[in-house]
Amino acid sequence: MNVVIIGSGYVGLVTGCCLAEVGNIVTCVDHDTKKVAALAAGRLPFYEPQLGQILGAQLAKGLLKFETSMASAVANADVVFLAVGTPSNADGSADLSNLLACARALGDAIPSHCVIVVKSTAPVGTGDRIEEILNASVRQADANDGIRVACNPEFLAEGRAVHDFRCPDRIVIGANDAYSSAVLEQLYTPFDTDGQRTMLMDRRSAEFAKYACNCMLAARISMINELSSLAGTLGADIASTCRVLRADPRIGASYLQPGVGYGGSCLPKDLSALIDLAQRAGEPAHMLRSIERVNVGQRQRLLKAICDYFGGGLRGRRLAIWGLSFKPDTDDVRASPSVALIRDLVQEGANVNAYDPVARPAAQAALGNVSVGFGQSAMAVCEQADALIVMTEWDEFKSPDLDRLATTMRGHMVFDARSIYKTKVLQQHGLHHYRLDQIMSV
Ligand code: NAD
Repeated sequence: MNVVIIGSGYVGLVTGCCLAEVGNIVTCVDHDTKKVAALAAGRLPFYEPQLGQILGAQLAKGLLKFETSMASAVANADVVFLAVGTPSNADGSADLSNLLACARALGDAIPSHCVIVVKSTAPVGTGDRIEEILNASVRQADANDGIRVACNPEFLAEGRAVHDFRCPDRIVIGANDAYSSAVLEQLYTPFDTDGQRTMLMDRRSAEFAKYACNCMLAARISMINELSSLAGTLGADIASTCRVLRADPRIGASYLQPGVGYGGSCLPKDLSALIDLAQRAGEPAHMLRSIERVNVGQRQRLLKAICDYFGGGLRGRRLAIWGLSFKPDTDDVRASPSVALIRDLVQEGANVNAYDPVARPAAQAALGNVSVGFGQSAMAVCEQADALIVMTEWDEFKSPDLDRLATTMRGHMVFDARSIYKTKVLQQHGLHHYRLDQIMSV
C-alpha cells in the first residue's frame, strides 16, 4: 500500500520504518526540516535500539522517503497516519492543535479512497472532530462518500519500540465503517502472526482503550509505590511483598518495582487528559486523581530524604546523578523524574553532576540554563561526591564496581530511586543504601 505518516517522532518513525520493512511504500512527513534532512540521510534524530538499521535498509530499497510537504506526499496515499504529538495544555487537557492543524492541511489533498488513521493518543471524540474538519474541506465530488477516519492507537514502549511494533500483543483498530477496518486489517496482517491480535471496535472505544491502558499502568506504579511506603513505615519488607504479589496470576508480575514514579511523554499526560475528560463529563475520577498525587509524592519523598540526610539543606553539597532519561534504553527526557529532581536539587543549592549513557543532549536541552555538570562516565560524576542518586535503571548501573565507587566518592550514601541494589551488598563495600520504602533516620 501507499502509506503516509505525518509526524516522524518516536511513534511515526517506528511505524513508517516497520511498515516499509514489510513491503509498503512509505512517505514520512514532518514539519521539522532539520529532522527530515537527517532522516533522509539515514541519521536517527533520537535513540531507539534497532531503528537505525531498518531506516538505512528501507531508504536503500527506496521503500521509505521523507518529506516536509504534506500535500504532495498524500496525493497517492491509500492510508494516512496522523502520529503528531498531543502534549498537555496547562490545564491538563490534551493539546490537539497539531493534530487538528494536520486535518485542516490535509483538506483537498487526499484522494477519495484514502483512510485517515489517528495514531496519536487523543481524547474520545477526536476522530469525530477530525472527520468534521475533513468533510468540511474535501472536494465536493468526494463529499457524498464522506471521508473515512479510523483510530489505531499505538502501544509501543520506547527502548523496545521496534520489537513492540513487529510483534505487537494487540492491534487495536477503531473504525465506524467496514472499508477502513478492512484496509487496516490488511495493512497489519504481517504483524498479526497468529491471527489473534487484531481487535476491531468502534472508533470511540479504541480512543478510550488507549487511555485506559496507560491509566492502568500508572495505577499499578502508584499502587506499588504507596504499598512500598506503607511497608517501610510498618516494618515490612516490600521486596518480599513483591515476590508474593508476582506469584498471583490474577495480579501479574510486571510493573511491580517500587521507585521514584513514572514519567515520560505518555503516562503523565494521558492521565491528566483522562482526568480532564472525566471532569468535563461530570465524573469524579477519584482513582485517577489519586494516581497522580501518589506519583508526585514519590519525588517529593526522595527530595525530602536527600535534604534530611544532609541535615536540611543542600548548599555546597556535591551530588552525583546516574540516569537522565525517564526510563532505560531511551534518550527521551520528557517528564523525566530525574530532570525534575535535578531542578529541585539545584534550587536547594546542590552542586549536581549527572551521567546518562545516551540522554545527555536531550537533558541539556531540557534543563536549559539550570546549572548542572555532565560527565563522560558513571564513575567520573562520582568524583568527590557527597552522595549518589540513581534515577534510571540502565543496565550499566546495575553492577558497578562498588569498591571503586566507595573510594571515588567523598560520602558513602547511595539513594537508590529504582530499587536496583541490595542493602547488604552495598554495605559490604562500605556504602549506605537508601530505598524509597525506608524511613530516613540519620
Ligand atoms: P514526538 O514528539 O516524538 O513526534 C511528533 C512529531 O510530529 C515531531 O517530529 C513533530 O515535529 C511532528 N509534528 C508535529 N506537528 C506536525 C505537523 N503539523 N506537521 C508535521 N509534523 C508535525 O511524539 P511521539 O512520542 O512520537 O508521540 C506521538 C503520539 O503518539 C502522541 O500522541 C503520543 O501520546 C502517542 N504515543 C507515544 C508513544 C511513545 O512511547 N512515545 C507510545 C504510544 C503512543
